[in-house]
Amino acid sequence: MPDTADILRLDGLQVHFPIQGRVFDRVFGRPAGAVRAVDGIDLNIGRGEIVALVGESGSGKTTVGRVITKLTQPTGGRLLFEGKDMTSVRGSSALRPYRHRVQMIFQDAYQALNPRHTVFDIVAEPLRSLRLVDNGKQLAARVSQALAAAGLNPPDDFLARFPHELSGGQRQRVVIAGALAVKPELIVADEPVSMLDVSIRAQILQVLVDLRDKHNLALLFITHDLPLAWLIADRIAVLYLGKLVEIGSADEITFNPSHPYTVALRNATPHMGGGNADRAEVPALQGEVPSAARVPKGCRFHPRCPSAFDRCRQEEPPPIEVGPKHLAACWLTNWAH
Ligand code: SF4
Repeated sequence: MPDTADILRLDGLQVHFPIQGRVFDRVFGRPAGAVRAVDGIDLNIGRGEIVALVGESGSGKTTVGRVITKLTQPTGGRLLFEGKDMTSVRGSSALRPYRHRVQMIFQDAYQALNPRHTVFDIVAEPLRSLRLVDNGKQLAARVSQALAAAGLNPPDDFLARFPHELSGGQRQRVVIAGALAVKPELIVADEPVSMLDVSIRAQILQVLVDLRDKHNLALLFITHDLPLAWLIADRIAVLYLGKLVEIGSADEITFNPSHPYTVALRNATPHMGGGNADRAEVPALQGEVPSAARVPKGCRFHPRCPSAFDRCRQEEPPPIEVGPKHLAACWLTNWAH
């Protein structure tokens, strides 16, 4: 079981990107608006806990990951790591200790790896740039340890290879080894298996779970795939248009979802849909996510709220407790119970 002390907390996190206005807007000083990529998220991650952040593309989940790894600066709210406010800490030297402890695994392993570098150089790079080793012997040992932990055994067989000489699964393991080499305490994994074959996915997920079990590593697992989130996570947080609409244990969110968007996500997975009659009413997800530049009030999923429930238009629903440690932001939260 994870040690539940929080390693990371997001308080009202906000990332709004300004929209370049049209010429007339600029001439008349009219505000051009903003893309509300992330719009006031509260989220905590415990040590050794795996939290899945689930949503469609455009929901803001990658932006949350980029804020946590300090690749994107938030426009509001706070990012706390072990209680220390990291929101406005900037600059490579000030961030060096943080980058040592928080790492990111990207979705596209081929893009993340420099094709001209060997596996050794790729995995050694963060150790060198964060100055975590004193000599070549230490460097070689840390690289081999990281490759072995990511399941590339024996490590010596891979050190001199280039990315094009590896399979998709091996490339993703090299990306994981690069993140592990610095011995982080929190990893943000952004769709780490979405580009892999199903058989390889299970192996990579197992590597991540083993790392949590052995090193008490915390993991934010970003995915659009609810069943995958259920497989790996302790808790699931559901993001819709930059807002957190539901959060709870993986079992509660998957088998007892309360927010109609979560139900629609579940109904989009054929073998998970159905259930009680009310849930079956909610259509599966279809079409594109509305633009984050023109976020509609309410949601478009509940059949009893065809456009947006009047109350939702006037007042955003706060997170309401619908079960043990299970919160959903919808005025009709009891509709499915
Ligand atoms: Fe969606 Fe709001 Fe209706 Fe809930 S009350 S189903 S959030 S429009």
